[in-house]
Amino acid sequence: MLLFWATIWTDVGMRRARLHLARTAVDTGTMGGRDRIEYADTQRLEITSGWRREHAGSGLTSRLILAYVEREAGGQAVKLMLARAGLSVSEERLRDENCWFSYETKLALWRAAEELLGDPHVAEHVGAAALDLSVAMGLKRALRALGTPAFVYGNVVRANAKFNWAHQLVLLESGTESVRMRYQDLAGVGYHRYDCEYTKGLLATVPQLFGLPAAHVGHSVCGARGGQCCEFDVRWTTGTRRLRRAAVGLAGAAGAVAAAGAVAEPILVPVAAGVLVAGELGLAMRTMSFLRRRLRVLEHRVREQDDAAGRLLSSLEDLSSDLRLDEVLEQITTKAQTAVGGKQFALLLMDGSRMRADRHSGIPQASLAALESWAFEHRKTLIEHGTVVIDDLSREPTLANLPQEQPAPFGSMCAAPLVFREELLGVLAALAHGSTVFLPGDASVLSAYAGHAAIALSNARLVARLERQAGEDPLTGLANQRTFHNECRVELSRAQRSGGEVSVIMLDLDEFKAINDMHGHPHGDQVLVGVAEALRASIRQHDTVARMGGEEFAILLPDADKAAAYAIAERARAAIAGVPVARTTLSCSAGIATTSASETSQVELLETADRALYQAKRLGRNRTVTNPDFPSEVPAFAVTAGAEAEQAPAAQAGGRRLAS
Ligand code: GH3
Ligand code: MG
Ligand code: MG
Repeated sequence: MLLFWATIWTDVGMRRARLHLARTAVDTGTMGGRDRIEYADTQRLEITSGWRREHAGSGLTSRLILAYVEREAGGQAVKLMLARAGLSVSEERLRDENCWFSYETKLALWRAAEELLGDPHVAEHVGAAALDLSVAMGLKRALRALGTPAFVYGNVVRANAKFNWAHQLVLLESGTESVRMRYQDLAGVGYHRYDCEYTKGLLATVPQLFGLPAAHVGHSVCGARGGQCCEFDVRWTTGTRRLRRAAVGLAGAAGAVAAAGAVAEPILVPVAAGVLVAGELGLAMRTMSFLRRRLRVLEHRVREQDDAAGRLLSSLEDLSSDLRLDEVLEQITTKAQTAVGGKQFALLLMDGSRMRADRHSGIPQASLAALESWAFEHRKTLIEHGTVVIDDLSREPTLANLPQEQPAPFGSMCAAPLVFREELLGVLAALAHGSTVFLPGDASVLSAYAGHAAIALSNARLVARLERQAGEDPLTGLANQRTFHNECRVELSRAQRSGGEVSVIMLDLDEFKAINDMHGHPHGDQVLVGVAEALRASIRQHDTVARMGGEEFAILLPDADKAAAYAIAERARAAIAGVPVARTTLSCSAGIATTSASETSQVELLETADRALYQAKRLGRNRTVTNPDFPSEVPAFAVTAGAEAEQAPAAQAGGRRLAS
């Protein structure tokens, strides 16, 4: 098993940031060798036949068929073929690699392609052309990453699960340059020559992934021709014998290469020279061409890796360009789905002392609960060992119920931790129906996405926290003046659209300086915290209470007329009077302004409330005054029961009447 750390450097503005992307376990063959990876020899899970029949062909196959027909006969031919197939499925869906189709749809497509192109072996030709067409690029990359044809054939169960659930392909025997495999009906649909030919074509291309000649595929046992099942004998050459001979020649190598003709790659010169010295011009030429082909494949592979890294980086940019938490969480699940296609996903987040499924792609509730427990239970393993693949969920006690989900049980899982600065933020879990589905490449890609996601998630959380803090008063946790003004703007514009009155109450504690002087500033702070609590308890659900500075507070009351605002102000003042202060009682004054949005601007509204408060102070404090400048039928200002000297200031205030 090869364990590696993928590290990507990127320029962010002028700063160079090192992004630790993922810690990924990659096995060069069977994915064996780590604690939490288990293997299933056979397809032991009870997926229903009906479900398998409906998933007999993946979008990889339909997309391949369409691409092949387009290449052979043009875009118009694709339309003709689809009309001939008479399917209700749209062309867009047929080109979507993540979709699945029924056995009948698959056969209808093959039949239409065969008739349209007049090619009785169209299925084999489509399979054989798989590498030339721009289809299943992710899968090809994942298979090529396995390193050799033998390893790809060794992973045939996983690879087949990307194409077909109605039939299973298993390895019977394997050698260094040959394998024997069985193709078995699991859905009760039987065997069709299209499937045999398509499988033959695909199997032949495997060595070509590595720049080797196509494999020879024998098909002596055939279910479509009366056999119990299908069997395929695959033989290919790795070219090692030829290379060995070339190496022997190289031992006595010296000059004379020019005679071999034009040499494109200088790196191949010594090899050809050696073989030439050994006296075999023909062998030298063949070796040159073989090595040239291998070089091309290696170049291709480097380009692919480069593309993959580019895609990861652009997905990182996408993720980190959005700093809204909700958007980031949504993107994490969507992008993971694109990266490891055709799977179900759950994003679990650490929430205090548990894992909580934040979003998912339609996974049943019971399975989500099991996943939450599993992720929490294994949080240490996930931090220490990185991405985990479980090939057979029925062997994992906490998840043993997932294979019971009907109609399509989950058989295997790839779970990548979201770790940032050694803290586990969550787990991104991909689930597949049936066991033994995830290729090492799938695990690496999911790891990389989880790495991106962890960075994006912690950035978005940080921004959310800073935003919240920027709008809050640090001592009391109430909204601050900035937030209050924003809320007023929003509320007034809403009232302008839908009508209704808006009120504002300004409150200022009475003689607060004396409390500070008497008991000290820290005690004064405690009193302010108590006042904030009292105000919170006095308001309605949609009201906003803010600390405007010092010992001055404000309440925004949507949909509140003068009478309602007055009642709330009195409730708030009574609550403040109940805040404990050593050796004295607390009181405060309140000023109210009420408006319908069309009547007055935000500035006017707040200034009016301030003036009302000022009046309340002038009238002797411990009272509430409403709209001092708005002549009205209702009382211009009201005085709290028990307050003194109401009448005298009324005259000073320009004849405004007192409330009873
Ligand atoms: P009144 O409003 O009734 O006219 O008298 P007052 O004593 O409350 O006067 P004013 O509102 O002008 O003074 C505000 C006082 O509040 C001054 C200052 O000592 C105190 N104060 C302002 N901010 C804080 C704070 O954050 N903590 C504490 N403990 N006291 C504060
Ligand atoms: Mg005061
Ligand atoms: Mg004040």
